[in-house]
Amino acid sequence: MNGLAPDEAAAYLAILHALRCTCKFYDTHVHPYEVLFDRFSYGDEGVFRDLRCLTGRGYVAPAVAGFKFPESAEVDEGARSQRFKDVWVMLLRKVYGSVGERVFVDHMNLSGIDKVLMLPVPLESCSAQSFDDRMRWVSQLYGNEQRFWIAGSIPAALADRDVAPYAQALVRRYGIRAMKCHPVISGIDLGSSSRKQWLEALLVACRELKLPLVLHGGRNSPYWEGNRGDFGSLEHLKEVDLSLSGSPVVLAHAGCHRCTPQQIELEELPLLNRLLKKHANLHVDISGLAYQPLKLVLQSVDHDRILFGSDALYVQQYEAVTMTMHALKELGHNVEAAFVKIASTNPERTIFVDGESHADLDEDKVESVPGAGEGKVPVGSLPQSGIFLRAAEQDSCAGVLGFVGTEAGEQEG
Ligand SMILES: [Zn+2]
Repeated sequence: MNGLAPDEAAAYLAILHALRCTCKFYDTHVHPYEVLFDRFSYGDEGVFRDLRCLTGRGYVAPAVAGFKFPESAEVDEGARSQRFKDVWVMLLRKVYGSVGERVFVDHMNLSGIDKVLMLPVPLESCSAQSFDDRMRWVSQLYGNEQRFWIAGSIPAALADRDVAPYAQALVRRYGIRAMKCHPVISGIDLGSSSRKQWLEALLVACRELKLPLVLHGGRNSPYWEGNRGDFGSLEHLKEVDLSLSGSPVVLAHAGCHRCTPQQIELEELPLLNRLLKKHANLHVDISGLAYQPLKLVLQSVDHDRILFGSDALYVQQYEAVTMTMHALKELGHNVEAAFVKIASTNPERTIFVDGESHADLDEDKVESVPGAGEGKVPVGSLPQSGIFLRAAEQDSCAGVLGFVGTEAGEQEG
């Protein structure tokens, strides 16, 4: 089987847990809620502070099982049916059936990960005010700074001149530690010169606020009628001055999301390595890559520029961890040394740099978010009492995603 048996996965995790005596491990690419369609609402009542479940769904803690490595999906830029999306939303109800600190801490403890960067993403239709509401929800739900750092993002509706003030407000209100930009989900076509300028405004804001930027990169997507897949392609990004941000820019999925191994080898990696040479602040994460693409990236990109990311919960975090370790082993690297570099040393000097949060949650001192109107909601604690929804189902995420075969490997938020 091109994958790992339970005891093989457990053996890699044991290595990791032993290494944690001397270093901390980080995951730089985790989504705090279902960002792709953002259709789920968990409600505020009837849950514990650290756990929220969708109606009718119970929480089952993750456990190590055998799994197949994700394979490269077929490139299909054609329109997909509504039925296809409906099936995906149904599957994602299982993957994101539960959210909250308990869910992610369980995954992190299983996977040997000490701290994660949470990446919220606004949909194209998301207004400045509604994304501010979402940020408040995320910052309240994942308030434990020992385990979670939160990134912000900029709704596509904001004009260039509003980007920096909005970013600044997110720093002050929610203490964001990084910025996320997902051109595909947010509907930002970096093929257009106006959006290239918009991204450069964001890079300048990141420089002023000393925020790292996690930028989605890839060429295909089966959603949005196949239209937006290339909004964040390397071909577009090569025309953007990524050095404008003195802070790290992390190209998610190594810029190869949903690319075939052939595309990656012949087109994307040569271009990516030119960009890495040109921009000293540019890095990549290896989240959401199928096994063969992952090996190609680990083989040809300088490990000093690679950060570990899982794309949890779309991908099981322990699967991403153990698959990466296995790929390093198959490529003949010293697994421990290489994994420490990409999941500990590099994230620690680029993203998880120690420092005080800039959050200032004193409402009297908080300015309204530009473009978001004046609606300020007091930041308070979440309900602490309620009914714990008992685990009603035994289906794991791996089982869910396995249902759709190769599509599952590269499905992403
Ligand atoms: Zn993602």
